[in-house]
Formats: sequence, C-alpha cells, structure tokens
Amino acid sequence: MSSPKISIDSLCVKELKEKRTTSPHQLPIYATSSFEFENMEQGIDIFTGKTSGHVYSRYGNPTIDTVSQKLADLEAFGTGLNAYGYLTSSGMSAISTVILSLVKSGETILTQGDLYGGTTELLLKVMAHSGIKTIFTDLTALDQVEYLLQTNRNIRLLYLETPANPTMKCIDLSQMARLAKKYGVITCVDNTFCTPIIQQPLALGVDFVIHSTTKYLNGHGNSISGVIIGHDEKYKKQVWTTLKLLGSTCNAWDAWLINNGLKTLALRMKKHSENAMAVATYLSKHPKVINVNYNGLPDHPYHEVASRQMKQFGGMLSFEVDGSLTQVLKMINKMKFCSMAPTLGDVDTLVLHPATSSHLNVDKAQREANGITDGLIRLSVGIEDVDDIIHDLENALK
Ligand SMILES: *Cc1c(COP(=O)(O)O)cnc(C)c1O
Repeated sequence: MSSPKISIDSLCVKELKEKRTTSPHQLPIYATSSFEFENMEQGIDIFTGKTSGHVYSRYGNPTIDTVSQKLADLEAFGTGLNAYGYLTSSGMSAISTVILSLVKSGETILTQGDLYGGTTELLLKVMAHSGIKTIFTDLTALDQVEYLLQTNRNIRLLYLETPANPTMKCIDLSQMARLAKKYGVITCVDNTFCTPIIQQPLALGVDFVIHSTTKYLNGHGNSISGVIIGHDEKYKKQVWTTLKLLGSTCNAWDAWLINNGLKTLALRMKKHSENAMAVATYLSKHPKVINVNYNGLPDHPYHEVASRQMKQFGGMLSFEVDGSLTQVLKMINKMKFCSMAPTLGDVDTLVLHPATSSHLNVDKAQREANGITDGLIRLSVGIEDVDDIIHDLENALK
C-alpha cells in the first residue's frame, strides 16, 4: 500500500515510484517532460553542470541520448574519434540547427547546386533572410572550389551531399575536407543516402555529419527525425545550446523507433545495395532506358570516386526513359509492386518522378542543367525479392 496519510484524490494524482528489480533488456521510452531531483543540492549541481543528469526532455532524455550516442558511435566507428550526437525533430531541423550554430549573419556557406530540395529552399528562403549568404558551385571542380575559398574569406561552412539526389553525382570528401582545413572552413556532410554502414565522412576528415534519420536509419518509414554528429569539443556546447534554444529536439517515441531500425541497418544496407545493383544492371540493358545513374555500374562517371569513399553503392538510383512527359507518367502509373511515395530508404521499393515532385519548384532550365529531365525516374530500391521489383519495371516499360 502507498502512503495512507493522503486522500484517495491525491493518490490519483501522485506518480507511484517505479521499484526497479532488474534492468530492461530493451531501451524503454521515457515519456516524461521533466526529471525529479532528490534534493535542492542535486538540482543545483545538475543545472550548473557539476554532475550529469537529466532535467527537462527538451535538453535530452535517456531514450533520446542513448540513440544519439549510438548514431555518433556508428559514424565514428574505427576512427578513434570521440564523437557526440544530437537527435533533432527532423532532417531539416538538423540542417538548420547545425547552420545556425556555426554560421553568423554576414558569413557565407559554400555548397553545391544539386542539394536535397528542402535544403536549397532553406538556404534561399530562410538563411538568406537572416543575413547568411550561400554560394552554389560545382564541388567536383577542385580548382574552382579552392579559388572561392581563397578569395572569399567570409566562407565559414562548406556543406556537401554525396551522392547527390537524384543524379548520384559524387563529391570527393577527402579532397573537400583537406581544402576546407587549409582555409579554416568547417565542413558538414548530409550522409542520409549512405548511412555510416556505407560512408563515414568523419573518417575522411569532415567535421560534421547530419542525417534525415527518417530515411535509412529508421528504415521503416514510421518516424520523422534527424541527427547532428560532430567530434570537435570546440563546437559541442554551441550546437547543444542552439538545439536547446531553437527547441528542435527529437521526441522519445521517434528516437525509440530509430533504435529499433538500427538493429537491422547493416543487413538492410547490404540487401538494398545488392538489389539496386541488380536493378541498375537490368535497366542499363533495356532498350527504352537512355541512361542509368547508379554508382555501382563500372561505366558510371562517378564510379571511381564512389568506390574510393563508399563501401557499398547503396539503394538509390535514377534512370532516364525515352519518352514524353505523358508517357513517363503513364509508365509510372503502371507500376503496381513499387510504391509511389515521396520518401526514400524504406524497406519497400519506392518510385518518384523528380520533375513533378521533389524538383517541382526548381526552375526548369536549372533542373535540366542538373540532369533532372522529364524522363528521369528515381528509385529507392527496397529489400524485397529483387525479381518482383524487376518484374514490375518490365511490365511498366512495356
Ligand atoms: C529527406 C531528406 C532531408 C530532410 O529530412 P526530413 O527528415 O524530411 O526533414 C534532408 N536531406 C536528404 C538527403 C533527405 O533525403
């Protein structure tokens, strides 16, 4: 029996304190906004950072912190770096938080033209508004990048995405990290397409990695969240403070779903890569397919760079069919096995038409200059039996 001195009404209100017997085998979801102090002294020590402990879930909680540390350990695996991670409410909030932590008004971000659409919009519509400028350039042109870094001393951050969406163009991460260091510029890579199973930017000299964990890291399409991973202690406090004050924290439930997904990450990435290779090979021989963008194909223009920095080639590919916009849309409508969903990295195969979805708001000339024509189709190849995926494509291409 609980305390007999309080009324039954109060008993309803009071939390019955958990009496631990043995520790849970699986990570529990901490559905609590705050943490209780045993006494005032403990509270003061935690608030002043003298002892560690949780205070309020916007600053992190045991579920969230366990998963962010696991992601940091995966990105830093084998590097000897002591990486830290912060889960965020989405991939976009990971990007905005890392930028606002590191870049001030009047400073400039150097990046590529073919970023994830949301990131380009964030830079142009939100960051520009707060005085943070962006220069878009071709990051595969080393001399041009070095010239910009040398002549524009306002560049604070070099922000990269490789392979790029949906063309699979790769940027040499070691070269970029080396150049950025030479000019005192911070580097950040969006590693969503690869996951640390395939590519580890920190091992190549990059300062920060961000992910939309919504995609492969969760893998099952049932949460929206992101993560920021860094290793330089110099920036840690600033990133944490920005996250805490912007309130871009993840919630315990979504963190828990990522934790579930992570257990099969290595298995999934292997199967995604094997299936994508088989699909790319099939498509490259099809008479109605003009071009296949998959880094695993030996004749892909970025095969060499990809082989150097990626352990597998991943599950993302795009291909261009010979036909009008109407014919291409009709073909996609004929696909019955693959799902028409505007995301990627789920266990099932997803098909997307960039020109009428992810790149709808991008100027046609600019989109075509980046290889995103009306005939281009993007596939996020899943982990099903690959014959079912190929069969679906075969039917649709007829
Ligand atoms: C989806 C995605 C994002 C944005 O992530 P959200 O979780 O949707 O906010 C950023 N970068 C890449 C490469 C993505 O695929």
